[in-house]
Amino acid sequence: MIENTGVATKEDLAQVEPSLERREKGPVAVFECFQEIPCNPCYTSCRVGAVEEFKDINDLPHVDHDRCTGCGVCISHCPGLAIFVVDQSHQDYAVVRVPYEFLPVPSEGQEVDALDREGNVVCRARVRKVQNAKSQDKTLVVWLEVPHEAAMTARNFRVVKDR
Ligand code: SF4
Ligand code: SF4
Repeated sequence: MIENTGVATKEDLAQVEPSLERREKGPVAVFECFQEIPCNPCYTSCRVGAVEEFKDINDLPHVDHDRCTGCGVCISHCPGLAIFVVDQSHQDYAVVRVPYEFLPVPSEGQEVDALDREGNVVCRARVRKVQNAKSQDKTLVVWLEVPHEAAMTARNFRVVKDR
């Protein structure tokens, strides 16, 4: 149970994962938000209406994966750091965009350890891009290139010194 462990279960994740077919078409948001809290910036920040309107501020968000363009604007607006964007349209690697509020900030091209939701190392990842616009209010968005097998498990990363 996420209430006890802080980690989403397979059953939780199965409810929110875009299909492989959709992920292979291009970037798409994955909302790993499982607790009813008074919060809706994911809805208000989405410019294309991919997030269903909240009937109650405590509702869980619902994303229309076909309408989502994978723009990633919602990632840094989510105070729960619960939104990721996954893109499996490339042949050799998947791209996972993750919110990041730690130091040090990695450099583009740097190799880091990709971590799963429990902090275990999943694989090595290459930092493709670091977004840090003023509008993101210090929630960076880091683009990681990972093997396709890690597309749905890599959700954080660790900068490794001297690599
Ligand atoms: S990634 Fe862009 S289009 Fe998709 S839900 Fe987030 S803001 Fe909307
Ligand atoms: S902004 Fe983030 S934490 Fe808030 S409801 Fe949306 S996905 Fe959940």
